[in-house]
Amino acid sequence: MTALLDLPPLSAAGFAAIEDQVAALLHTSADVIVTQGEALLPLEAAIRGAAHPGSTALNIVTGPYGRTFGDWLRSCGAEVVDLAVPFHSAVSARQVADALAANPAIDFVSLVHAEAATGNTNPVAEVAAVVREHGALLMLDAVASVAAEPLLTDAWGVDLCVIGGQKAMGGPAGVSAVSVSARAWERIAANPAAPRRSYLSLLDWKERWTDAGRAVLPHAPAQLEMLALGACLDRIAADGLPAVIARHRAASAATRAGVRALGTLTPYVTRDAHAAPVATTLRTAPGVHAGELAATLDPSLPVQPGGGALAAEMLRVNHYGRAASLDTVRACLGALATATGADAGPALHAADAAWAATVEV
Ligand SMILES: *Cc1c(COP(=O)(O)O)cnc(C)c1O
Repeated sequence: MTALLDLPPLSAAGFAAIEDQVAALLHTSADVIVTQGEALLPLEAAIRGAAHPGSTALNIVTGPYGRTFGDWLRSCGAEVVDLAVPFHSAVSARQVADALAANPAIDFVSLVHAEAATGNTNPVAEVAAVVREHGALLMLDAVASVAAEPLLTDAWGVDLCVIGGQKAMGGPAGVSAVSVSARAWERIAANPAAPRRSYLSLLDWKERWTDAGRAVLPHAPAQLEMLALGACLDRIAADGLPAVIARHRAASAATRAGVRALGTLTPYVTRDAHAAPVATTLRTAPGVHAGELAATLDPSLPVQPGGGALAAEMLRVNHYGRAASLDTVRACLGALATATGADAGPALHAADAAWAATVEV
């Protein structure tokens, strides 16, 4: 473990090179700022940078993070229109278009791409198109979608795209990043309430780092996390992003097919098109408490109960990062078969077939 100590300092050029790798992963030519903290840091920084008294935000709630965003937006003094959809589904572009038409003052939209906590994913390309037509800024929480499904920041017109390294990227927690479009910079710079001289200030980074030619780091970087982020970006490049995405899609398809064959649990997200590739949520049979069921499983398996009240009825299989593998899916299905008194054979067979059909596409 002393290998973790006494490392040479991470240079400004090294830090900038990692930012450029993140930009490539996000398919963006906008500024990318790597932030020294978990992904909630750039998410809060983006909201506090853009929102202010007098602004109106459309907050799309498809899982627990949307609720947090709404609280931050309100604490900035913004008027907030919440558009909540049931966690077993996804928002549609039509719903967003209707909300924008009903509230022409909306100038900011917050959306979560994939929801690891509830297992659903939203059609960002379609939603972004209606947001762009309306003229509002779009903030996207892509923490649970990056490297698990396509993320076309510039082509879709996402103004603030936030990622973290610890989900499908298979990298470190505690370091994160946000891309900031020119439109977003204009809005944030014009916002007198935007944080300045603050840990939450994107403008500080722009002034002291990005606009200063990224020559001198404004503080000592979180070196170990940055090295780990660089290593995981290198590994994604070596594996090929399409292959990494295909593994996640296959893990989702295999888990859903396997669970349907089990018969003792059902996919929580009803439509395949709304299912997130990072995690598959499952509904337990009536009267079966998911938290109690999860407690009987091998704790090394990536299965956990839903958060909060969802623990009564929701199990979550996390198949992201290295766990986006057929071996992991089979191990989880086998354990769930035993725990629910089902026959594992047909489930494993269905999972194998779905895996093969998905990775070969
Ligand atoms: C995991 C996750 C986060 C939080 O990331 P942290 O790095 O733990 O702050 C935010 N949003 C979504 C959608 C996530 O899945």
